[in-house]
Amino acid sequence: MKVVLDHVTKIFPPIKGKGPDVVAVDDFDYEIPDGKLIGLLGPSGCGKSTTLYMICGLESPTKGRILFGDDDVTNLPTENRGIGLVFQNYALYPHMTVLENIIFPLQNAPKKNRLKKEEMLKKAEEVAKLVQIDGLMERKPSELSGGQQQRVAIARALVKTPNVLLLDEPLSNLDARLRLQTREEIRRIQRETGITTIFVTHDQEEAMSISDIIVVMKKGRMYQYGKPQDVYDLPVNLFVAQFLGTPPINVFDGRIEKGLLYIGDEAVLKVAGDEAYDREVIIGVRPEGCNPSPDGNLTCKLLNIEVMGRDVSVVSSHDKSRNETIRNIIDADEAPDASKGYVKYILKPHKVNVFDIESEKRLEIEKSNL
Ligand code: ADP
Ligand code: MG
Repeated sequence: MKVVLDHVTKIFPPIKGKGPDVVAVDDFDYEIPDGKLIGLLGPSGCGKSTTLYMICGLESPTKGRILFGDDDVTNLPTENRGIGLVFQNYALYPHMTVLENIIFPLQNAPKKNRLKKEEMLKKAEEVAKLVQIDGLMERKPSELSGGQQQRVAIARALVKTPNVLLLDEPLSNLDARLRLQTREEIRRIQRETGITTIFVTHDQEEAMSISDIIVVMKKGRMYQYGKPQDVYDLPVNLFVAQFLGTPPINVFDGRIEKGLLYIGDEAVLKVAGDEAYDREVIIGVRPEGCNPSPDGNLTCKLLNIEVMGRDVSVVSSHDKSRNETIRNIIDADEAPDASKGYVKYILKPHKVNVFDIESEKRLEIEKSNL
């Protein structure tokens, strides 16, 4: 089912009555397509949870409407929206077994559409299989690992076959390995069920790796949406560019002069187009966006070569760099000569973005090698 956020705003009154109102979500306007997994991504406090709570009806918008399919659900109580909700802290009932936890939403359905006992058990069995906890039905939550507990929470959210599945930072309490595994599971479950799913996270790698579409938020505003690769390659502004990617994008102060893009005294690329007039700019170069070469035209001070196994991370610095260090990820075979005090780079035009110095918006500029 598609979910439409039609110019949705949420304003909270000032905390303890003091100070200005808090605009938690500011004119969020987006149609979430049916059957997709959407990663809602942004730094802590940017309004992700508030957006999710409005979709499920735990909060009501100050302005705007929410539609499921063509139905306006803005004023519909949560229990009538057909939502499955999973939080960071599992929120299982500790005194109940796994089976009892999963079956709970079915037992509490309104009498008129409550299933028979056998049907409930069958449903619970089905979703437990789907999330692969069918062997643990008689255990209590305290007898499960964090990953297993989160699977139970997901099973419980799925048991009523929701129209929309909402997950609020569901992996944050898991250790790194389980996080990886569980996110793959969530992807698989979403594919198998085809349920429109909104996955909230502050972790860009997590969002990029499992989402069909990512939506990037900052301070209550939605900045950009799109396929993860598209948003990564063509961020709308410097914030989005810096928020996505590990290691982060390398940022330089630079300028355009007579059709050439400069970092310091060195021309690094040819540029063309209406926006490529002489001006100061900000330049973003992805860690995979340059190659060391004796013929390179960006000279950086070589600090270190960190071995990461298959790849190496070449660490350098430059006067015009806004990051303390510049990181370049390359194949171990291509590592530069560590005994030299410098490294010269050839930039890859499609891995370089140029931003306006004031608005920090990405400029539409054609780039090519010299
Ligand atoms: P996120 O989930 O992205 O970390 P939230 O949606 O929880 O962000 O919060 C967005 C903003 O709204 C924050 O500034 C937060 O302090 C504020 N906020 C959230 N809930 C309330 C509330 N019930 N009352 C007042 N302010 C709130
Ligand atoms: Mg939150």
